[in-house]
Amino acid sequence: METMTGIKTTLTRNSKLKEVDFNHLEFGKYTSDHMLVADFYHGQWNEPQIVPFANLSMSPTALCLHYGQTVFEGMKAFRMIDGRVNIFRIDKHYERFNRSLRRMCMAEIPYEIFEEGMKELMTLDKNWVPNQEESALYVRPFMYASEARFGVKPSDEYRFIIFTGPVGQLFSKPVRMKVEREYIRAAKGGTGSTKCGGNYGGAMYPTKLAKEQGYDNVIWTDAGEHNFIEESGAMNLLFVIDGKLLSPPSSDSILHGVTKDSLLTIARDTGVDVEERPISLNEVKTAFKKGTIAEAYCVGTAAVASPIEVIGIDGEDYHLPVKEKGIVAGLKEKLENIRNGTAEDIYNWNTIVG
Ligand SMILES: *Cc1c(COP(=O)(O)O)cnc(C)c1O
Repeated sequence: METMTGIKTTLTRNSKLKEVDFNHLEFGKYTSDHMLVADFYHGQWNEPQIVPFANLSMSPTALCLHYGQTVFEGMKAFRMIDGRVNIFRIDKHYERFNRSLRRMCMAEIPYEIFEEGMKELMTLDKNWVPNQEESALYVRPFMYASEARFGVKPSDEYRFIIFTGPVGQLFSKPVRMKVEREYIRAAKGGTGSTKCGGNYGGAMYPTKLAKEQGYDNVIWTDAGEHNFIEESGAMNLLFVIDGKLLSPPSSDSILHGVTKDSLLTIARDTGVDVEERPISLNEVKTAFKKGTIAEAYCVGTAAVASPIEVIGIDGEDYHLPVKEKGIVAGLKEKLENIRNGTAEDIYNWNTIVG
């Protein structure tokens, strides 16, 4: 079968759609029926194909398994109130994907393969997009070094894949965060602003220690002196202090989040006082003592915006005030209204695929 844009497609013969309980979607459990696959070799990208979701086969010497040339993106498609499906901010994710690929010395992906491939895949599997509140279809483009060869070198062959899967809410309640002052996630000049696999592997051990201490995740601090707040897990951070919406500025040790960018854009355009600037632990501690900190949130594609209830700094837990609806919750609602079609998409963030 060929689709409208001519992507060669092999349909699955046994759809798994009926096995999914859309009212109890755990994050990361289900994958949709099809995936897009494209291979790079002999210096060029070859025809992408859509095939049934299936295991991969590769040589034990595939370079990705040894030297970490792997990059991913995390995006979402939403069911709109009129039933159509919308992929959120493809361009922004595409740009970041290629920025990550450049930093990891991997082949960049052409826009047509990324965008057309994703639209085509989404059209085919659109019945997988949930319409339950707080649910969405998670979209995972990724790429790995597929050349079979040992010895450290940049791969000459890559495989690009997009798969999707329906997801529910990531956190069902406010989260407890430990400020990490021993281990680091990223340093100046490193790979922190890319979504390369190694960043997440390196974060797991300190995160596990934080969980053993009763926290949900860590808040990373700067690699130099551990005095400035960076980000958390796979999420950026927002604070409301003295009535201002604050976030650490983007740098090469902080991932430039699309969710944060979207929320801050809406904030600026609706008259919220926004400051992107370094935030020190002292400033946060002082704000807790003076009672001027009103909100703290983790924001990202998976979590959207999750309130933080506790921030642990050097063994002392600081509690955020319980709030029904503050500044960030209001911004989150405005963002959701754009994504589900209740509000006008004035920024052109939605790509509607029917
Ligand atoms: C993906 C990610 C984020 C959030 O980015 P979004 O584009 O909003 O999903 C933040 N920090 C890290 C480390 C991430 O991997």
